[in-house]
Amino acid sequence: MYDQVKEALQANLEEIRESGLWKEERTIASPQAARIRLAGNGQEVINMCANNYLGLSDNAEVSAAAAATMEKWGYGLSSVRFICGKQEIHEELEVAVSQFLGTADSILFAACFDANGAVFEPLLTADDAIVSDSLNHASIIDGIRLCKAKRYRYANNDLTALEDQLKQARADVGTGRIMIATDGVFSMDGTIAHLDGICDLAEKYEALVMVDDCHATGFMGKGGRGTHEHRDCMDRVDILTGTFGKALGGASGGYVSGRKEIIDLLRQRARPYLFSNSLAPAICGGSIKVLQMLSASTERRDRLWSNTAFYRRRLEEEGFSIPGKDEPHPIVPIMLGDAKIAQQASAKLLENGVYAIGFFYPVVAKGAARIRTQVSAGHSQADLEEAVQAFVKVRADLGW
Ligand SMILES: *Cc1c(COP(=O)(O)O)cnc(C)c1O
Repeated sequence: MYDQVKEALQANLEEIRESGLWKEERTIASPQAARIRLAGNGQEVINMCANNYLGLSDNAEVSAAAAATMEKWGYGLSSVRFICGKQEIHEELEVAVSQFLGTADSILFAACFDANGAVFEPLLTADDAIVSDSLNHASIIDGIRLCKAKRYRYANNDLTALEDQLKQARADVGTGRIMIATDGVFSMDGTIAHLDGICDLAEKYEALVMVDDCHATGFMGKGGRGTHEHRDCMDRVDILTGTFGKALGGASGGYVSGRKEIIDLLRQRARPYLFSNSLAPAICGGSIKVLQMLSASTERRDRLWSNTAFYRRRLEEEGFSIPGKDEPHPIVPIMLGDAKIAQQASAKLLENGVYAIGFFYPVVAKGAARIRTQVSAGHSQADLEEAVQAFVKVRADLGW
């Protein structure tokens, strides 16, 4: 049987290659950091494409906390929560997440992908509606697919379009539930969601608000709590989902955080919680340490934002086209337009010591190809200046 499938799969693979959409994975031979070493030729490069916003991926204090937790609590749980229960360290992390985000309660998942897969189905039935931003993360889209609620989509971060969809949804579901789902920060552009306006509309149309804050938790807002703090609507967001795999140390794991009854119900009904293993103790210990560090000092956040301002200013001085001038975020896309150029630019940047990836259709709109770069608190200004110089050189070589 496999012989027939094999041929079809080979044809599939060939199609992916020929369309220029093949994703090559690079291999790193060092810890994740602002500067990394590549496997193979051992080249040292500046990493401009990690979600390591606070530079904590290789932080010694975080690693030590994780190691000490593993020493004390063992390597793994070998069970899901409803069978073997949890360890105190899991409870501690759930409390720490809730305190940090300013929410009533939190529930842990193996990843934010699972959190988003878990959150809709227990809360919404076929008599309810989800109104979803058109640029929401793939895991939100999948989560919505797993749930029977009616689906509505609005143009990215467009409050007028959202209101149109809310009107329609309210007309369709009558007294049913409506939930608005949005990323806090959209990862391809670094656009920050208008959460305050979204919460106003949610009130008007009696909808719940769910925010996936993966590219914000730890550094957006005065206390680094996220987009809800940045937009001054902390008490108005019902559900936040997030990851430990980005700014918060970068290991893995995710959570849903929010209203007490919502979290209580997810503990009873969320399938990725009920049927998937508990987070490893070491990750709990490392994540608790990160949240303590971020509550004790603004130093890393401050450095991230001053680095972001410096890097954006330098790119603009050199005449690059980068969105997000009015509302800067450490996600800094350098717009190139053409998909081929974006691919070539990524390869040439690497030759010049800069590790950054091109994004093109279908990941972003046709004609909107870009190199997406991400600033970290772990970068020095010299690193960032070197990256800018590499962009200048590659632009001259490729002539875009
Ligand atoms: C990275 C990301 C996820 C997935 O998080 P994991 O913990 O890596 O599964 C979900 N949503 C958004 C918006 C993300 O950027």
